[in-house]
Amino acid sequence: MKHLIIGCGISGIHIAIQLLDNGTRGQDILILEKSGYNCSKLFTIKENAIRDDGKHEEVILEMGPSVMHSKQEEILKLISKLGLLNTIEKVNPKEKAFYVYPGLPSDEVKKIWKELKKRVFEVEDITLTLKEASKKVLNNKEYNILKTCWGEWYEMCDCNLQILKKSMEEEGEYLIMKGGFDQIITKGIEYLEKQNVNINFECEVTALKEFRVHDNKGNEYVYEKLYICGNYKGIKSIKTDIPLIKEYLLLGKSKNCLRFYVYFKKKVNIPYKFIFGNFLGKFSIKYSDRLWLIAYPDGELATKLNKMNKRKIVNDWIKMINNNFNLDIIIKDVGLEYCCYWEDAFSILKKEGVTKANIIHNKLKENNIIITCLPKNKGESSAWMEGHLYKL
Ligand SMILES: Cc1cc2nc3c(=O)[nH]c(=O)nc-3n(C[C@H](O)[C@H](O)[C@H](O)COP(=O)(O)OP(=O)(O)OC[C@H]3O[C@@H](n4cnc5c(N)ncnc54)[C@H](O)[C@@H]3O)c2cc1C
Repeated sequence: MKHLIIGCGISGIHIAIQLLDNGTRGQDILILEKSGYNCSKLFTIKENAIRDDGKHEEVILEMGPSVMHSKQEEILKLISKLGLLNTIEKVNPKEKAFYVYPGLPSDEVKKIWKELKKRVFEVEDITLTLKEASKKVLNNKEYNILKTCWGEWYEMCDCNLQILKKSMEEEGEYLIMKGGFDQIITKGIEYLEKQNVNINFECEVTALKEFRVHDNKGNEYVYEKLYICGNYKGIKSIKTDIPLIKEYLLLGKSKNCLRFYVYFKKKVNIPYKFIFGNFLGKFSIKYSDRLWLIAYPDGELATKLNKMNKRKIVNDWIKMINNNFNLDIIIKDVGLEYCCYWEDAFSILKKEGVTKANIIHNKLKENNIIITCLPKNKGESSAWMEGHLYKL
């Protein structure tokens, strides 16, 4: 093959579309995908839920990515190319947040939390992670408030503070996709197949040599240009004798996460979109009066919740809501629940990998290999799809 792509997730599709745009014929592109059709991390569930008044409603649950931002150029170009720009919606930045912390009212916790975050963000030491910087400038009680009420704490705490600050400053407006992010994959596959690009599903690449690739069915493919667009764990499991690829893969690590949605038959009527703080899920988001993401953790908290009885997490959330808002939700009000645990949710670069990854990436490019399974540019703090979309 002239162009061989491993992986039919968003990053593989993005590469294939760019090749076509640059004049490559569809017949000269082949994608090998380990799983079945539309099985990447862009995973949207559409369900028919029944309300307490007997009416039906369709609910959309993003079990994978749920948000992007307006300064992410490559993903926006891809969405536009696939005719999906009309599905993009801004998240209202004025949505209110409620803070749960024992012995303190929400408004006060919110004020304290903001002040603590400001103090930590003033630390200028370039070697410290968010967690290390917080421990350096806060006492135990302050540290506990900051950590407990920071929704994405376990996603961010091991990031280098300066890189985190920079990437947060560069964020644009938050955007969601009506109908679900998996439309990028379904529309992308449809587009590629129309242009005669072949996609071999259920075809796992198991070995990788210079100019040769082997799959789990005993086939060998000879390539001129190779694009390694699988997820980090999937690519790490490929046997390879190419030293630069081995070196590149040592620079990253996987992060896990958990998403837990509950649809309540009756309304959970409160004027807040976000709840942060002292309950098992730590971070909760309202999608409608009935549909709530009751837990949104990464890292060690995701591992802990994954091992727990799921009913316990729902009961804890209901108790938290009833106590704080004087409601009378009961377990029988639960109409649907979906919990999804990802072992390899996203990959990050280790501290020492931040500059080295770019160097290796460029060297591989000189050898006609592009690899996207570790994030570009943003270094340690990149949990975004955009981090894997390489411009050719
Ligand atoms: C719960 C969750 C929430 C997230 N939230 C966000 C968010 O809000 N915003 C955001 O921007 N990002 C988010 N992300 C991260 C985002 O999903 C990833 O960055 C993005 O999907 C990476 O795309 P990819 O194409 O590189 O990898 P993937 O989507 O993992 O696709 C890789 C493909 O390669 C295939 N593959 C792997 N190994 C092989 C092999 N050996 N042979 C053949 N095929 C192989 C896999 O089967 C898979 O289909 C989230 C992820 C998760 C799990």
